[in-house]
Amino acid sequence: MVIAAPSGGGKTAVRAKLLECDKRFRFSITCTTRPSRAGEADGRDYYFVTAARFSALRRNGKLLEWAKVHGNLYGTPISSVAKLLQKGFIPVMTIDVKGARSVKRIFPETVTVFLLPPDLSTLTARLKKRRESPENIRIRLRTARNEIKEAEFFDYLVINDLLGEAAAGIRKIADIECLKVSRRRAEIRKFSRELAKLRL
Ligand code: 5GP
Repeated sequence: MVIAAPSGGGKTAVRAKLLECDKRFRFSITCTTRPSRAGEADGRDYYFVTAARFSALRRNGKLLEWAKVHGNLYGTPISSVAKLLQKGFIPVMTIDVKGARSVKRIFPETVTVFLLPPDLSTLTARLKKRRESPENIRIRLRTARNEIKEAEFFDYLVINDLLGEAAAGIRKIADIECLKVSRRRAEIRKFSRELAKLRL
């Protein structure tokens, strides 16, 4: 599952809430060339890599998608997603809007969720709370103007007003998606094989 939002949309907080309350989900860690911020840990929040390492990963086809966001490179390692899928978890990717569309293009079965704050004043207030400079806030709002146009290419829209409700919305989406016939072929095949064995 891919969760994207304009900057300040609350992806990280919603993800944390989701992982805390539903063990079906696991965070699929991405890699970045941006330096770590205070409180961030390598291998937990991101894989912090050098520009050289990033281009090697890209060249060797190890990234599902990659993007330049605010001057830094970010990419989704195929191995992160594959490992989680093998273990039966729902990988949660919190990536930018363009990255979300790339993942959907490569794997159309990926569920994409667009997170939106309840209104513009909430978005601005969240950016201010993060102590972004006025210039940065302007840049992010300008980016948001373009990002929101991409919302219509997503499968679901979740309004991030109260964290718990946003996480509950995403859990509901997973419940519904897990019931889709296209995701349950193995069960149908098993039943079908058993029926075929009957001497009728
Ligand atoms: P930040 O530097 O604030 O952690 O992240 C900046 C933006 O990059 C956020 O929108 C974040 O979701 C996005 N991002 C993080 N990892 C990836 C990735 O692997 N691919 C893409 N396309 N975007 C990413």
